[in-house]
Amino acid sequence: VSTEGHLTELRVDGARLCRRLGQLGQVGALPDGGLARLALTDADRAGRDRVVEWMRDLELDVQVDGIGNILAVLPGREPLAPVMTGSHLDTVDGGGAYDGSLGVLAGLEAVETLRAAGLTPRRPIAVASFTNEEGVRFGPDMMGSLVFAGGLALGEARQARDAKGVSVDDALSRIGYRGDADLASFVPHAFVELHVEQGPVLEAAGKTVGAVTGVPGISWTRIELTGEANHAGTTPMAARRDPAYAAGELITFVRRLAGRLGGGQVGTVGSLALRPNQVNVIPESAVLTVDLRNGNGAELREAERALAEHVESLVREERLGCEVTRLVRLEPLAFDPRLVDLVARTSAALGLPTERMSSGAGHDAGMIARICPATMIFVPSRGGISHSPAEHTEREHLVAGANLLLHVLLQLAEES
Ligand SMILES: [Zn+2]
Repeated sequence: VSTEGHLTELRVDGARLCRRLGQLGQVGALPDGGLARLALTDADRAGRDRVVEWMRDLELDVQVDGIGNILAVLPGREPLAPVMTGSHLDTVDGGGAYDGSLGVLAGLEAVETLRAAGLTPRRPIAVASFTNEEGVRFGPDMMGSLVFAGGLALGEARQARDAKGVSVDDALSRIGYRGDADLASFVPHAFVELHVEQGPVLEAAGKTVGAVTGVPGISWTRIELTGEANHAGTTPMAARRDPAYAAGELITFVRRLAGRLGGGQVGTVGSLALRPNQVNVIPESAVLTVDLRNGNGAELREAERALAEHVESLVREERLGCEVTRLVRLEPLAFDPRLVDLVARTSAALGLPTERMSSGAGHDAGMIARICPATMIFVPSRGGISHSPAEHTEREHLVAGANLLLHVLLQLAEES
């Protein structure tokens, strides 16, 4: 049966979607609110088991690859490259019920809606759950989608270890998700991920949907400053080599730098450690991290250059030792303009107020964009809050996002 002619009236079962989001949100729930389904833990396994059961109930072809990515495929009328959707089931410690889960369950809901309507799209539709998107327990983040897209060797990813020394390989085996499906030749026709915005843009603009144009470039740096530990009372100010002073200057500098560059530049010092960290001791060392992001590659490089220059002058002034380590460096990524237009057009046809916007965070879609045209759909986050038990998206926005995803997938799945 062709799907044409059904594009306007077909809708997902919003109650079923929200019920499943609620049920999945109980898995790994913390007593004081929020949930913890860190990658490859027992809670992650329980969440995966639940979702796989729903996939099997739909008689989808469920496969698990070597890094634990789960892929459920609805066959199409023709043996063409599948249209793919999906997100992740892992969370941070104290995360919300929709970050990641929405994208997986809305994909499943779209497929179930087609099944219930007796529709078979031309192309297969694949729903994916990617392993370890958050990167809290194992690095790097977006591990599963990066391996899937060929950006990280499977063997290397499996060797990553958590703080207790447990490897990804062992953790996968322990929870029963060290699969053997070889998905290296699985190249989608297109990829679309539905996700909560995790920022305040849509709510502030009063819009229901974000048509996501791209992901900013990300630059993470670890700066270790070394001075001389000494007595806080007897050491004259002029004789000090104080790394804490330089660290404080850097924190202020990063804030001012973002203000000076303006545009989409953001900058954060998210961690700082002083040693020995005692009230009456000038510290011997300070270790801090700087997170710089910008959707414009040239502006990001300018921010990095200004930071490096300032570190150098502080180190000279305070006579410090300094070791700078680059932790993460990703160029800004523009999503496929044709897919972004398709999302915006379809959203308008469904009567949903839409904003074209850049993503503040990295996502699996940014990894899959390496191998096929990709984009994302955002729905609002209340108060712009994310990675917190207070994370919330209104029910009508969850359902609107799922309906938009359904119709975008349908159109892509009918393409020759
Ligand atoms: Zn997420």
